[in-house]
Amino acid sequence: MTTRYAVDADVAVLTLDNPPVNGLGYDTRRALVDGLDRALADPAVVAIVIAGAGKSFTGGADIREFGTPKAMQEPNLLSVIAAFEASTKPVVVAIHGVCMGGGLELALGCHYRLAAPGTQIALPEVKLGLVPGAGGTQRLPRAIGLEPAMNMIVSGNPVASDALASIPGQALFDRIVDGDLLAEAKAFARERAATTIGKEAGPHPRVRDRRVEHPNLDAFVLFARTTVGAMAKDYPAAQRCVDCVEAAARKRFDDGMRFERETFASLMMSPESRALRHAFFAERAASKIADVPDDTPQREVRKVGVIGAGMMGGGIAMNFLNAGLPVVILETKQEALDRGVATIRKHYEGSVRKGSLSETKFAQRMTLLQPTLDYADLADCDLIVEAVFEEIGVKQAVFERLDAIAKPGAILASNTSTLDLDRIAAFTTRPQDVIGLHFFSPAHVMKLLEVVRGKATAKDVLATAMAVAKKIRKTAVVSGVCDGFIGNRMIEQYSRQAMFLLEEGALPAQVDAAAERFGFMMGPFRMSDLAGNDIGWAIRKRRYVEQPELTYSKVADALCELGRFGQKTGAGWYDYRPGDRKAHPSAVVDAMIVEHSAAAGIARRTIGDDEIVERLVYALVNEGAKILDEGIAAKAGDIDMVYLFGYGFPPFRGGPMRYADEIGLFNVVRAMRRYAAADVDGRQAGAWEPAPLLAALAADGKTFT
Ligand code: NAD
Repeated sequence: MTTRYAVDADVAVLTLDNPPVNGLGYDTRRALVDGLDRALADPAVVAIVIAGAGKSFTGGADIREFGTPKAMQEPNLLSVIAAFEASTKPVVVAIHGVCMGGGLELALGCHYRLAAPGTQIALPEVKLGLVPGAGGTQRLPRAIGLEPAMNMIVSGNPVASDALASIPGQALFDRIVDGDLLAEAKAFARERAATTIGKEAGPHPRVRDRRVEHPNLDAFVLFARTTVGAMAKDYPAAQRCVDCVEAAARKRFDDGMRFERETFASLMMSPESRALRHAFFAERAASKIADVPDDTPQREVRKVGVIGAGMMGGGIAMNFLNAGLPVVILETKQEALDRGVATIRKHYEGSVRKGSLSETKFAQRMTLLQPTLDYADLADCDLIVEAVFEEIGVKQAVFERLDAIAKPGAILASNTSTLDLDRIAAFTTRPQDVIGLHFFSPAHVMKLLEVVRGKATAKDVLATAMAVAKKIRKTAVVSGVCDGFIGNRMIEQYSRQAMFLLEEGALPAQVDAAAERFGFMMGPFRMSDLAGNDIGWAIRKRRYVEQPELTYSKVADALCELGRFGQKTGAGWYDYRPGDRKAHPSAVVDAMIVEHSAAAGIARRTIGDDEIVERLVYALVNEGAKILDEGIAAKAGDIDMVYLFGYGFPPFRGGPMRYADEIGLFNVVRAMRRYAAADVDGRQAGAWEPAPLLAALAADGKTFT
């Protein structure tokens, strides 16, 4: 049973018991109402307590039911809340740990609420592009006041119970209990029963009967609408949250509830909510690997080694230090080691100055760091991550050394971006222990981690890597071995299109503006200036030799020949002023682009923003389809996670594959055919040939996700 029923003398206790977070799924809801009926029918019971088993009261709706008929099957949450609100016996809710979404809505529908201090209270629905749908927008403002409720509902962020209890005049919590919560809830319930005994239905306080007062309602609502409009322009749910909270102040309760229901139902159909829900589930699904079940044994990781204290090595080390793991960091020369350690120290000092890290924690982290020049110091590490120069010879030397000194069972990881992981694994006598951990720069900030599964990588190594990723708070996505893995392999096609657009008539600022209006964090040229234009140049030089059939516009090479490598050289696609990262359009570069078109015999034309966005995004989608087809990514959602967490793809579009589904693959393929036809001189060499998987899905009217 997912809600337990027990009677303690004269109080019935309903305990939500549906691990992991006591989600309010169908069985739990059914059992709650059955428990209520049982308690009401038992003359010995005078009051009812609802509590949660384990670490929390409830996280809200059971996400496993999302999108299934069970989610709304009666008794749905609205019906459950109505039943408890109408109970003739007082209902007391005992809240601890976490009380979110539907859980908070249930609590608000009961008569009394006691909470443990520090309980996380939230209505997070806006994060899924929705408004709370079971009265949250109508009851919370009545319980804590318009302004605090607006903040919570529009942001979706949790607030601690004790902070809410300190709001003057609030009716959310009757008491904060810093002791035995259940015992106190039972005593409180008895007390309330004693004062209301013999009275008919309705003697118990109901949040719905309160009024929302505000001295300056019009001005506050206008302020909320303007603020939200500026901060969440691509997220319609935030504005609709404002509408619903406003309705709580202006409408009768039942009318406000109807308004909330209608708003919820219309948002369920919005592309933004569908995209956000897709991302929510895809993130959870990314940690599931078909042939590596959840109960796969894991290796213990208590100590980590990092080889190379350069840009990536330092950031990688910080991830583990932040998680409280000791790190041995190795370099070949003392000065490189000192520089690397100094950079780490400087980062932490910056955090201390900003107040986000305490002096004590800073000191703890630095003592966990052991710099060394001696491989012997890595001998007791459970996981060793290599981040040395991107040259196969250097990697070979490192992995041969590691093979000689690492303890048996140690996981040997490479942060390589482009090299063949299977080749690296073959430098050791233990390829089963070798894996790719492809961090993104800056490694201590970026959420994405591509976990690269080599052909020999053992399942327990993979399972351990996924668990380690979680521990250091990364979103891990498994990729097979190929050039560029999932993310960089796709971005190459996107960059290729960005360059073709330049020689056909666009300028960097126009392409970037179109991409940024679509929602990308940064357009392709600003991104390239940040990463370093020389990186792409090196890759292209390799492609010219290895894949001469793959064509590129030479405009980026011309830029690199001018030494314009991006922010690091103070000049790239844009001009930069000292000490400032702002990109200023460059007259020199723009003239160079126009000249390049003339020299290549291309008549420049006006290119619309729609074409820019379609060509950039469909180039990603087509390569993504190949990656899926080849099994490099296991699911379309994994590709979307790479792009949302590693490449600044707009979350409200759900990732490139989900976006293509939204547009319709039929339409994507038609657009690609149009671009293929327009490429009369074949400069784009097959870029618009739909990948077989994409063509087949489009023909069958199917989707990626
Ligand atoms: P970097 O040049 O900043 O750092 C490399 C460091 O490795 C240097 O400090 C160097 O002294 C040290 N080193 C070289 N040979 C060594 C050896 N034999 N033993 C120990 N230390 C040695 O380079 P980086 O940008 O940090 O890149 C490191 C790796 O990470 C590369 O494989 C690169 O492809 C990968 N990577 C880089 C990025 C990025 O954005 N820079 C992103 C993902 C992955």
